[in-house]
Amino acid sequence: MIYEGGCHCGRIAFEVEGELGLVNECNCSHCRPKGYLLWFLPREQPRMATPEADMSTYRFNKHQIAHHFCPVCGVAPFADGEQDGKKMAAVNVRCLHGVEPSQLEIRQVDGRSF
Ligand SMILES: [Zn+2]
Repeated sequence: MIYEGGCHCGRIAFEVEGELGLVNECNCSHCRPKGYLLWFLPREQPRMATPEADMSTYRFNKHQIAHHFCPVCGVAPFADGEQDGKKMAAVNVRCLHGVEPSQLEIRQVDGRSF
């Protein structure tokens, strides 16, 4: 299945190919206010349709994760970083067209306690 996603205004657009299963909702100080529902994938996904340089990026704590967001509309469709030496992406499935969050299996992650 190929999903199309991006921000609200279209400055960030991409495709993601894969089977959308369990997604992660985290209660940490960063994920909770943004409302992320995250799908972890290899960094080859998402495949960008717009220039990476058009995104703004927020880093905090150890600065290992690049949380991308749109400088125009503010929507934050994905992040990337490394896990066990592998480049990974975390796609916010709320930003994928045609995905209904209430139909998903959501795992609660207690990031606040990490
Ligand atoms: Zn935008």
